[in-house]
Amino acid sequence: MNVTSIRNDFPILNQTINGKPLIYLDNAATTQKPQVVIDRISDYYKTINSNVHRGVHTLSQRATEAMENARITVQKFINAKEHREIVFTKGTTESINLVAQTFAQQFLNEGDSILISAVEHHANIVPWQQLCKQKKANLLVIPILENGELDLSNVDELLSKNVTLLAISHISNVLGTINPIELLIEKAHKKNIPVLIDAAQSVAHETIDVQKLDCDFLVFSGHKMYAPMGIGVLYGKTDWLNKLPPYQFGGEMILEVRFEETIFNELPFKFETGTPNVEGILGLETAIHYLQKIGLKQIAEYEHKLLTYATQKLNELSGIIFHGIAKHKSAVLSFNFQGIHNSDIGAILDQLGIAVRTGHHCAQPLMENLCVPGTVRASFAFYNTKEEIDMFIEGVKMAKKMLTM
Ligand code: PLP
Repeated sequence: MNVTSIRNDFPILNQTINGKPLIYLDNAATTQKPQVVIDRISDYYKTINSNVHRGVHTLSQRATEAMENARITVQKFINAKEHREIVFTKGTTESINLVAQTFAQQFLNEGDSILISAVEHHANIVPWQQLCKQKKANLLVIPILENGELDLSNVDELLSKNVTLLAISHISNVLGTINPIELLIEKAHKKNIPVLIDAAQSVAHETIDVQKLDCDFLVFSGHKMYAPMGIGVLYGKTDWLNKLPPYQFGGEMILEVRFEETIFNELPFKFETGTPNVEGILGLETAIHYLQKIGLKQIAEYEHKLLTYATQKLNELSGIIFHGIAKHKSAVLSFNFQGIHNSDIGAILDQLGIAVRTGHHCAQPLMENLCVPGTVRASFAFYNTKEEIDMFIEGVKMAKKMLTM
């Protein structure tokens, strides 16, 4: 991989922050956008902007065609069987809420359970928790081991507790643990339990094949995979999506409306109410092509090298406490030092132009489990370099020294 040339694709990286060259290590929160994605959005507004699906005029037809081609690109990217299994949403959070409000409203009854894990992002906790409260159902949690891997010792027992859905992240945004979703899907399916995979942290780092995984739903956000904000995807097997009621009501999601009654549109439009985010959808398509051109396998290998290097270097610092040392990890590093607040380290690194995330990372139950208020999190992308990691380590050393003086 030619990282120098890749870095040139990302104009935002070429700037100084607080007088220092920007080192962006907050990729788990959001990734930067390559010029091709920025150009695609700009070109859309310069050439074919118009509302989709209902227009007979040429621009509307061009925009509709571009949007529907993008749907096929997403379908192929995750190897979905049919393009109507791809529903465009605002992002992971909206996709999960969509499933919670439609699937679970329909199938979750009093006394049933939703099973999640201890490492989930709030987006994969709160929608289920609120629903369980409404329905007098139970929210069950797969615990974790000290190294940040899921504790699967009682998972069969948990799956036997009237579970209506297993909703689980592929990769933890805090610990970087790659969860054994293939095994969990197999175990759940043996008990006829459908599975939703939160792929927010994996879709830009691992090859996703929904048919091979055989998951029932899979959700992700464009902005974590070099695409714009405000666009995301819900994948659902056709059989499931057909069984679900609409999520929201209004234009686009209808076939026919009378004051007395409405006939809803077919898939996937039944779930896409109102004017869609066409610029976001086209930006997502270009980001996918961009990733495919570099190659997800090459990306995963390179990012893994960065992770190994950074882990080794950080490990040399006395008093470091790593959170998440699972065998299978993606390029996310969470850590603390005894007696130093995570946000103080983040603030000093910022003065050096280094962007990391600090705090609870929208995973407060996990923080409680780890007995910390938050962590410092560095998350890498394929445009990061070993030299940047060296600067980051020097920054952490300096912060540690200043904060223990
Ligand atoms: N799930 C995971 C694992 C995440 O890391 C995130 C964001 O950090 C989300 C869900 C929520 O994604 P979004 O805010 O794009 O909806």
